Amino acid sequence: MMPARPTPQLLTGWGATSATLASVVRPTSDTAVMEHVATSPGQCVARGLGRSYGDAAQLAGGTVLDMTSLQAFSLDTDSGVLRCQAGASLDAIIRACVPRGWFVPVTPGTRFVTIGGAIAADVHGKNHHGAGSFGQHVHRMQLVTADGQSRWLTDSDQAFWATVGGMGQTGVITAAEVQMIPVRSGSVVVDTRSYRELDDLAAAMIRADADYDYTVAWVDATSRSLRSVLTLGNHHDQDGPLEFPRRMMTVPRWTPRVVNGASARVFNELWYRKAPKRRDGQIMPLHSFFHPLDGVADWNRLYGRSGFLQYQFVVPESAFDVLPMVLHQLRGIGAASAMTVLKRFGPGNRAPLSFPMAGWTLTVDVSVTTPGLSRALSQLDSVVLAAGGRHYLAKDSRMAAEVLAAGYPEFGTWDKLRAELDPEGRFRSDLFRRLSRET
Ligand SMILES: Cc1cc2nc3c(=O)[nH]c(=O)nc-3n(C[C@H](O)[C@H](O)[C@H](O)COP(=O)(O)OP(=O)(O)OC[C@H]3O[C@@H](n4cnc5c(N)ncnc54)[C@H](O)[C@@H]3O)c2cc1C
Repeated sequence: MMPARPTPQLLTGWGATSATLASVVRPTSDTAVMEHVATSPGQCVARGLGRSYGDAAQLAGGTVLDMTSLQAFSLDTDSGVLRCQAGASLDAIIRACVPRGWFVPVTPGTRFVTIGGAIAADVHGKNHHGAGSFGQHVHRMQLVTADGQSRWLTDSDQAFWATVGGMGQTGVITAAEVQMIPVRSGSVVVDTRSYRELDDLAAAMIRADADYDYTVAWVDATSRSLRSVLTLGNHHDQDGPLEFPRRMMTVPRWTPRVVNGASARVFNELWYRKAPKRRDGQIMPLHSFFHPLDGVADWNRLYGRSGFLQYQFVVPESAFDVLPMVLHQLRGIGAASAMTVLKRFGPGNRAPLSFPMAGWTLTVDVSVTTPGLSRALSQLDSVVLAAGGRHYLAKDSRMAAEVLAAGYPEFGTWDKLRAELDPEGRFRSDLFRRLSRET
């Protein structure tokens, strides 16, 4: 079969910054992926649903393989093993599998990600402290490497772990087998607590790990005291309806910037006031608990045409003090974040570029037009590294090459494995060009 014709396309990540032009092809079979990799000139990279925030799934002047046509999947309802093509979205999988009593083992804050993107970024969810990250639930995956050949990898292969968290730099994942988890209803039992001080939140989060599968906190980064709302959940273990709703509204293209200092402060105030001081046993549909932002399609447009970035890092357990320092510093330059999220991670895994490690991870959304942002974040990078922490590649659009190498001590091991799989550097993204100073 002839490969589909490439189309020139300007691509960005979810943050809508740093658009670059690539030839985009949409393979519709594994064989077409193999043909593209074997025959297309220059460098290439796979792209899923483009939900990484920065430049991870784009390649200026190269070929981008849009994997979203490879979306078939099937579920073995006895074992809960999902066999899927890499372009299948968690949204489609959840819609089809929850009514049959199975849920994804790990879900990020949006379900509009592909299986390939979930493995390549080794995504984490609100259950990281107990379940680890996505790659730990993959039985095996099929990878097309730079020689155009396809191979199945299991967790006894080094190439498996180089690909988990490897951000598309080892090849193109075309299929995977993922272990799903059983659920008895389409809902979660949720407890909510509000805190005026960050230290009280931290103590509550440490205590909560043992009792809850899912924990996450929202922090009002515009308040001096850093007040917060902690959400704790377990799957509802009584039989109940297994359903999933449709999306509700869409933010139109060319919406002027809505998120700014004033609106972020109002949003945070309302969010905090709306939350109960303490509430137990609320039954919440899965989608409201796991993916509240997915209720509004294209909400990233609320940041206007110049876009935004998400600063996400993790620091070890003992370095909690870094969190208020970062938040106060960002508040000091007027980087009012409407969405600041704190989560505790359990231990990391064998993948050299997997982001999670035991400790605290913070995500802060910031408009890129914030004056002094670039300088402030570079200073904060050093603070995070000095504390033994690191930054998440799936969210990155700006860090320097030294920051990557310093944060990931196994980077050299990973790069050697990558070079063995791809000696001529066929797979590249704008992210890795930037981080290997090729631009
Ligand atoms: C609202 C929102 C909330 C989020 N919450 C979380 C969260 O809680 N936890 C978390 O971990 N992440 C989170 N993310 C980030 C997101 O989960 C990851 O960036 C994920 O990788 C996106 O998947 P995608 O299919 O859109 O991949 P893309 O963004 O298209 O690509 C991401 C990377 O995966 C590679 N890739 C994609 N498909 C393949 C393939 N078939 N083979 C090889 N490489 C491939 C790309 O080359 C790229 O390097 C969030 C993102 C958004 C927008």
